[in-house]
Amino acid sequence: MSDPQVFLDAALDALGPRGLTLDPDLITPWLTDWRGRYTGAALAMASPASTQELAALVRLCAEHNVPIVPQGGNSGMVGGATPDAQGKSLLLSMRRMNTIGDFDVAARKVTCGAGVVLQTLHEAAERHGLRFPLTLGGKGSATVGGLIATNAGGTQVLRHGSMGALVLGLEAVLADGRVFSMLKPLKKDNRGFDLKQLLIGSEGTLGIVTAATLKLVPVVAERMVIWAGVPSASVARQLLLHCEDAVGQALEGFEIMPHLSIEAVKEHAPSLRPPLAQSHAWHVLIEIVAGQGASEPPAERGAAMLEDAFEKGLLEDAAIAANEAQADGFWLIRDTVPAAERARGPAVQHDISVPVEDMPGFIDAAVPALESAWPGTEAIAFGHLGDGNVHFHVIAPQGSDGVSWQAGDGKAISRQVHDLVTAWNGSISAEHGIGQLKRDELARLGDPVALEMMRQVKRALDPQGLLNPGKLI
Ligand SMILES: Cc1cc2nc3c(=O)[nH]c(=O)nc-3n(C[C@H](O)[C@H](O)[C@H](O)COP(=O)(O)OP(=O)(O)OC[C@H]3O[C@@H](n4cnc5c(N)ncnc54)[C@H](O)[C@@H]3O)c2cc1C
Repeated sequence: MSDPQVFLDAALDALGPRGLTLDPDLITPWLTDWRGRYTGAALAMASPASTQELAALVRLCAEHNVPIVPQGGNSGMVGGATPDAQGKSLLLSMRRMNTIGDFDVAARKVTCGAGVVLQTLHEAAERHGLRFPLTLGGKGSATVGGLIATNAGGTQVLRHGSMGALVLGLEAVLADGRVFSMLKPLKKDNRGFDLKQLLIGSEGTLGIVTAATLKLVPVVAERMVIWAGVPSASVARQLLLHCEDAVGQALEGFEIMPHLSIEAVKEHAPSLRPPLAQSHAWHVLIEIVAGQGASEPPAERGAAMLEDAFEKGLLEDAAIAANEAQADGFWLIRDTVPAAERARGPAVQHDISVPVEDMPGFIDAAVPALESAWPGTEAIAFGHLGDGNVHFHVIAPQGSDGVSWQAGDGKAISRQVHDLVTAWNGSISAEHGIGQLKRDELARLGDPVALEMMRQVKRALDPQGLLNPGKLI
């Protein structure tokens, strides 16, 4: 880096006083990641208000060799938006680029800035009778740019796909300050590589997303939310296939939770009452929806589907939410599982996927393998069975010291989980990305050809290595 002061003066000229700060009180809250695992330092925090301002800033960074760490809502789970401790990087907040354009109701799309918060987008879409069909626990903080950069998922992927399936057009500033502009969506476009998809999931290492055109769907007119008890993960999978056959595209959510997760919720939040009185080895949360003008209400299709499932022995018991408040209550139990587990003690978390059809077999093999290799631990798998993706958490033996357990046994456990997932042809990151948390594990377990291709792409698009250094690859 040349003289930092020369760079900072030039950056201040380009962005104005609202666009650049050196004030530690304003910067410090953004230097630690969501889970509190990483804390870094920054030369300054830049907050450009437009693509042109950002492009000018990135050109300056290239000229002065200043690394850039893009950040949206800082809700990521893998330390991807946290700079290293050297204090030479510029923390780039995208939060001021938060304009939502006109809704094209007929074409069901909207173009918005990278800094738009997911919840704000949901509320704006709803005012137009539309919805953006991706939701997750961090929706009050996560931004469109961060969701794109991590190719985020959530509970509606089963029907609508991850972020990559919902981005119709994209604009990004490249490492040399050029603007890649592909905001106008085309349904068909075969002019070579799909560069938009290359940027999706690249975690700020190939370009900085400034805006996106997003796909919208009609608002939900009616939904049926079911809580079911089943004897095994394998029966839960059969129930999923049964639901898909019975209601097809109307199936929007299918989440599984083991008995232990429900017990943890009961302990942690006694006011939340699980819908089924009896104990079951596995619990399933199912959501069936219909848009406006649907020919058959979900209640009728869902009731027929349930009756049939009982007859086929795919259910031990089931409860249907009687109203919206109860439906929200069912989802609240599911959403409380991570917090309830955290309250049980220190744990190592893994966000993994295997081929959808193999997930019950993986759970049945991995849970006892981990628990017998590490006596006193509890292994829990819960989440998006329909996507072949579960959160696989291993809770420390009672009385363990969190920090030393995580750094010692916890690390070895994570390696074992990742080895198992790799042996099952799965992924060590189904949703959250790689960031700095899993970078070394990706290097250890990733396909060598795929890793080398990623490095070649990185060198081609960011030869100075200034975009989010130390993350992903
Ligand atoms: C309670 C909770 C529940 C969650 N549940 C889920 C879930 O179910 N599924 C799921 O997939 N994720 C989940 N997440 C994590 C999810 O990845 C993040 O919420 C989100 O995708 C990141 O958005 P952000 O704006 O906060 O990005 P940040 O955390 O700020 O950044 C994340 C990464 O994106 C990069 N980045 C940010 N903005 C840009 C940009 N404009 N251009 C280029 N790169 C950028 C950063 O450098 C970093 O590498 C959850 C998070 C929380 C807190």
